[in-house]
Amino acid sequence: MHSRKRVVTRSTVALANARAKGHIDTLRAKLLAFEANPAGDNGYCGYCTHITPDRIGGAAITSAECGLCDATMTFGSTSVDTTCPGCARDNGLCRHCAADIELKERRNPYPFQSASKSTTNEGRE
Ligand SMILES: [Zn+2]
Ligand SMILES: [Zn+2]
Repeated sequence: MHSRKRVVTRSTVALANARAKGHIDTLRAKLLAFEANPAGDNGYCGYCTHITPDRIGGAAITSAECGLCDATMTFGSTSVDTTCPGCARDNGLCRHCAADIELKERRNPYPFQSASKSTTNEGRE
């Protein structure tokens, strides 16, 4: 494997500067938005709402099963949520990444942990 030579010129340096600074500005703006609204929007945690709004994905209708119930969800792209909106709301989770909606470590069990009173799922990722 060989990577094509990338010729460096004054203008490629300027372009790289602009790209790096632009990305830093974008990250800074995302962090400011996160700090202003850490709870996120529409059942998505602050991380998914502000830091990685990557819900664009590939443009293919994609179905996925909820990670907690048997509901099948349909999305307009390949970026799919982890749980259905109802399970996310009932358990205080982000529907996309399934983190705690406030990104907090809870001491108490989540509702889904008692619902199935299973011992086999304990401790699994
Ligand atoms: Zn569900
Ligand atoms: Zn999330």
